[in-house]
Amino acid sequence: MTTPLRIITIREPWAHRLIHDGKDVENRARNIVGAYRGPILIHAAGRVDHDALTGAERQKIRPGRLLGVVELIDVHHASTCADTTNDRTSTGLCSEWAEDDCFHLVMRNPRTLTEQIPHAGGLGLRHVTPDLAAWVWDHLNDPAPWLCAQDHGPTRCSWCGQTTAAEGVRRYA
Ligand SMILES: [Zn+2]
Ligand SMILES: [Zn+2]
Repeated sequence: MTTPLRIITIREPWAHRLIHDGKDVENRARNIVGAYRGPILIHAAGRVDHDALTGAERQKIRPGRLLGVVELIDVHHASTCADTTNDRTSTGLCSEWAEDDCFHLVMRNPRTLTEQIPHAGGLGLRHVTPDLAAWVWDHLNDPAPWLCAQDHGPTRCSWCGQTTAAEGVRRYA
């Protein structure tokens, strides 16, 4: 059985910007997601990047809490940005949010949660427990087929309740 979603911990305000402000690239020194593509739960780290924080964001950030889910669609190194099909920016990188000399985790379709519950932080891409996965599905704003990464068989998915190909769950090569 595949996992319905994974989780990563990101410092505020960057986590907030991924979910709320159109940030579409997470910059990392290493490819922490490997070959995984699909839904990722965004957890805001307890520690805040105060240098990056704006005055307006100070009121909005939720350190230590689960913020939402994004769809990870691609990972590449900054040196190969030019090979992607995305629109170029003035920097020549794939996004205004992308930084040089690192890996770009390309994210789309942010979804917020109806409640931002506390969660323990961690390193890298992690699995979530079935209980947490079920909680996330029940608290998603605007659920969509891609939000479940399980291989759907002929029976209804025990996590998201979707059935096979009929509902067009995306598969990642
Ligand atoms: Zn890039
Ligand atoms: Zn499912």
